[in-house]
Amino acid sequence: MNICIIGCGYVGLVSGACFSEFGWAVACVDNDGARIADLERGIVPIFEPGLGDLIERNRGAGRLNFTTDLKRSVSGADVVFLAVGTPMRRGDGHADLTFIREAVAELAPHLSGFTVVATKSTVPVGTSREIEALLSQLNPTADVAVCSNPEFLREGSAIRDFTHPDRVLVGCDEERAAAVLERLYKPLALRSAPVMFVGRESAELAKYAANAFLAMKVSFINEVADLCEATGADVQEVASAIGSDGRIGNKFLHPGPGYGGSCFPKDVSALIRTSRMHQAPLTLVEQVERVNSARKTRMAQRIVGALGGDVGGKTICILGVTFKPETDDMREAPSLDIIPALQKAGALVRAYDPHGRESAAKLLDGVAWCDSVFEAASGAHGVVVLTEWNEFRAVELNALASRMAGHTLIDLRNMFASADALAAGLDYHGIGRASLSADNAMAKRAAAE
Ligand code: NAD
Repeated sequence: MNICIIGCGYVGLVSGACFSEFGWAVACVDNDGARIADLERGIVPIFEPGLGDLIERNRGAGRLNFTTDLKRSVSGADVVFLAVGTPMRRGDGHADLTFIREAVAELAPHLSGFTVVATKSTVPVGTSREIEALLSQLNPTADVAVCSNPEFLREGSAIRDFTHPDRVLVGCDEERAAAVLERLYKPLALRSAPVMFVGRESAELAKYAANAFLAMKVSFINEVADLCEATGADVQEVASAIGSDGRIGNKFLHPGPGYGGSCFPKDVSALIRTSRMHQAPLTLVEQVERVNSARKTRMAQRIVGALGGDVGGKTICILGVTFKPETDDMREAPSLDIIPALQKAGALVRAYDPHGRESAAKLLDGVAWCDSVFEAASGAHGVVVLTEWNEFRAVELNALASRMAGHTLIDLRNMFASADALAAGLDYHGIGRASLSADNAMAKRAAAE
C-alpha cells in the first residue's frame, strides 16, 4: 500500500515513520523546503524520543521518503493523509482551516485511481463533508472517498501511543474506503488494538470531546488543589484517593500551572465555537477555558507572593519551560505567560530546560539561558519548577540550595517531597498542599529536641 502524508510536523512525522515501520511505502510531503532538506539529511526538526532512530531505519530500508513533490506522492497513493496544522484562528478562536483547504486544493488535481483522503489533523465536525465538496468542485472526475482518522498521540510518548493505541478511530461513510483503512491498520489490529469504525461526524467530534474532557479533568484537579490549600488537605492524597476509583481513573489528575500545548487550548476553544454555532453550547467546557487562563495569571502572582510580594531586582530560576516534559514544543506553554509576568514585575529570569531552549529562546526575551539546573540556580532568590523533566527528580536539594542567594523552592509540579526541601533549608511552596517554611521546621525540631 502506498501512503502519502501531507505535513511533516509531530503528527505527520510520527505517523509516517510508524506506517513505514509496519511495512507500508510512505511519502511524507511538506511545503517547507528547509524542513524537507533537513529530513533528507537525517536531521529531525522536532524532539520526540525514538523518532530519529525510527526514521533512519525506515529511510534506510527504502520505505520512507521526504519530499516537496506533492504531485508524484499523491498520484501514486492509495491513502493521502492530511496532517497539517489547524491552529486557533485569530479573532474568533475557532479552528483555522486555511492549511487544510490549501492542501486539498494542491492535491486535488493529482488524484489518480481510487484514493482515500483522510484527515489526521484535528478538524471541526463537518470538515470531511466540506473537503468532499471542495474536491468534487476542483476535480469532478476524481474517484475519491474522504474519511476522518483523528490522531490521539501525545508528544513525548508519540511512538508508543501510535504503535500501542487505546483505539484507532476511523470515521468513514463508504465501504470501499473502510476496506482500505482496515487493511492499512491491520498490523495494529493483529496486535489487538481496537480499530473502531464510526460515522465521519462522530470521529471528528470525538477527538474534540476527548481533549475537552481531559482539559476538564486537569482544571478540575487544579481547582481542587486550591481548595486543598485553603483547607489543609493534600491534593496528592485526594487525587490518588479519587483516581483509584475505576470510574474516575488516575490519569490527568496532576495539578499544575494550567494546561498548555499544541492541542488542548486550541481544541477547547474550537469546540466551544462549534457548540455555539450549533446552538448547543458546552457551558462546562467554556468554564474550563476560563479557569485555565485565569490560573496561568495567578501562578505568576503566586511566585511573587512566595518571594515576599516584591520580585523587583530579584533573580528567579525557572526549571523547565516546555508545556510538558519529553518534548521541545513550546506552543501555549504556561512559561510563556509566567516568565514575562515575572519580568514585568522586575525579576531577572534565569532558565534551564533539557530540550526546549532553542524553541523557547525564539519566544521569550531577556532570559538568561543556562546549561544545567545548578547553573540556572546560581544566585537565584527562588527556584521555580514549571515542567517536570525527569532529570530534575534526581537533583540534590542541598547542592541546589548552596548555589542560591535565597531559599525558596516553588514547585508548581509537586516533584519534590516537602520534607526534602525543608531538610535542605529551603522554604517549600507546592500546589494543593501546605507551604512550609524551613525556619519554622527548624524551630519545631529544636523545640521537640
Ligand atoms: P505542526 O504544525 O507541527 O506541523 C504541520 C506541518 O504541516 C508543518 O511542517 C507545515 O509546514 C506543514 N504544512 C502546512 N501546510 C502544508 C501544505 N499545504 N503542504 C504541505 N505541508 C504543509 O502540526 P502538528 O502538531 O503535527 O499537528 C497537525 C495536526 O494534528 C493538527 O490539527 C493538530 O491539532 C493535530 N494533532 C496534533 C497532536 C500533537 O500532539 N501535536 C496530536 C494529535 C493531533
